[in-house]
Amino acid sequence: MTHLMPAAFVGHGNPMNALEQNRYTQAWSTFASSMQRPKAILVVSAHWFVNITAVTSMHVPRTIHDFYGFPQALFDVQYPAPGDPLLAQRIVDAVQPTYVGLDKDSWGIDHGTWSVLVHMFPKADVPVLQLSINATLPFEYHFDLGARLHALRSEGVLILASGNVVHNLRLVDWNSPGLGADWAHRFDDDVRSIMTSDAALLGRAGVHADYPLAVPTPDHFLPLAYIAGLSAAANVPARTLVDGYEMGSLSMTAYELTGA
Ligand code: ZN
Repeated sequence: MTHLMPAAFVGHGNPMNALEQNRYTQAWSTFASSMQRPKAILVVSAHWFVNITAVTSMHVPRTIHDFYGFPQALFDVQYPAPGDPLLAQRIVDAVQPTYVGLDKDSWGIDHGTWSVLVHMFPKADVPVLQLSINATLPFEYHFDLGARLHALRSEGVLILASGNVVHNLRLVDWNSPGLGADWAHRFDDDVRSIMTSDAALLGRAGVHADYPLAVPTPDHFLPLAYIAGLSAAANVPARTLVDGYEMGSLSMTAYELTGA
């Protein structure tokens, strides 16, 4: 039986998680230490949401500080992992006929990626690539592209998706640390029952009564479609890695896919 690298969806939440130690960052770190060293890490981050599907293909991807209003210490974070242009080309080939462009000089490593990887792989010595989320295409496209990435798991590539199942910044309640609103619980719970049983049904979340509040824009939810596609391709349900809520309107739920 071929060894499959794990894959995971991580709820990255507040960028400050990069600097903090809490039960979420602890779970991410424990997850990383449970696996063989990956050959490379391919990350689908909510923060590279553009009008094309592309994979980063530079030797030295830059650390991107794509936020404002945070302490200088967060802008000082660097994640100097190398890239892997040969693997980028391999990814382009592996998902054909779906088109993926090579990004040689545009993106890099955004905070959806590095705020998690500073905890998982603090030495930044494993090559990191990002796959953009094509904002023009529907859920089914992202689920299908996720399934097409399945072969990479047997080639030693760790696939990470970074977003938040529930992510409504307009409804953030600073008086509710560690709490979720009723609608946030309902949506997160129903998504969990799908992910841990038959992830091929995740598209149904789009007609959930609480979807408009939980997913006011698709950028933070769509990374989960990639892990749902991988789960279906492997015919293995996801498991909850850690869960919780922040400020009423963010779910921090993370899922892992393990096993061959
Ligand atoms: Zn985010």
